[in-house]
Amino acid sequence: MKIGVLALQGAFREHRWTLERCGAEAIEIRRPDELDDVAGLVIPGGESTTIGKMMVDWGLMDKIKARYAQGMALYGTCAGMILLCREIIGSDQPRLGLMDAVVRRNAFGRQRESFEADLYVPEFGAEPVRAVFIRAPYIEQVGPQVAVMAKVNEKIVIARQDKILVTAFHPELTQDDRIHQYFIQMAADKA
Ligand code: GLN
Repeated sequence: MKIGVLALQGAFREHRWTLERCGAEAIEIRRPDELDDVAGLVIPGGESTTIGKMMVDWGLMDKIKARYAQGMALYGTCAGMILLCREIIGSDQPRLGLMDAVVRRNAFGRQRESFEADLYVPEFGAEPVRAVFIRAPYIEQVGPQVAVMAKVNEKIVIARQDKILVTAFHPELTQDDRIHQYFIQMAADKA
């Protein structure tokens, strides 16, 4: 299974290592044509305004949308989640906007710029997911096609819509590979 990791800025190497630990072939993506033979694409955390601008400048924005329409799965962590949401509160920055969700950036406030939490997610079994949040966003509202998979303080931090998965936190910074495994399975499932 070939999975791409958008390698413009941010924590892309950690995603590549995690995907490789899960047995996938992980490919760093910088050019549109490199998306042609991947079944899924991870959009990492980092700075969403920078990544979004580079996606436009490097011709990746339209290509990612076209490959999604053909069945490529998408997984966004943190900044990647922001870029996948339809509406970003208070910002008109470039985004893919493919998930019917409203997201707030840097949403947990100054006191909680970085924190960790245990999430109980039925899809991943009884063992909690240790989630690392770094200047994290959360989702405030979702449309009817979006499944909410986990919340922290009533804020949505994992969600899925069809072949799109988003997490507000960084599983690639832990040794818990269940979310990447779940995404690899999503990419493998034929639409
Ligand atoms: N605060 C960043 C943004 O708005 C996201 C932080 C992250 O990806 N860890 O883009």
